[in-house]
Amino acid sequence: MAHELANRSRKRASDNVDEDMLFGMALIAIQESLSDSMCGTCNGKAWVSTGEKMIVCFKCRGSGRRSRSGREIAEEMGVSMKFYKDECKHLIERYMLGVLSNYEGELHNALRERLY
Ligand SMILES: [Zn+2]
Repeated sequence: MAHELANRSRKRASDNVDEDMLFGMALIAIQESLSDSMCGTCNGKAWVSTGEKMIVCFKCRGSGRRSRSGREIAEEMGVSMKFYKDECKHLIERYMLGVLSNYEGELHNALRERLY
């Protein structure tokens, strides 16, 4: 699956991104899309109390889920933050996660058809 995702992303990546990086990004995108771990800051509630009022959780930005920051992903891939922002971020967020959520939808539909 990661290989397929990397291949499909190839034409969207710039020449600065090599095959290993593409594969690494595909793995990260898959991990992110499968992650159902709760945000540790708000415990999955999506909001936190400041003592006076409730605010949208700043850590998960209201999703309630833990997701890695760009800095963490850049470190994991061994690239600079600038490189990550310029070459990787849009690929992972706009393309790879989109492809993966389509997969999820297809899987869901296939299951539903079998159940009903
Ligand atoms: Zn949170």
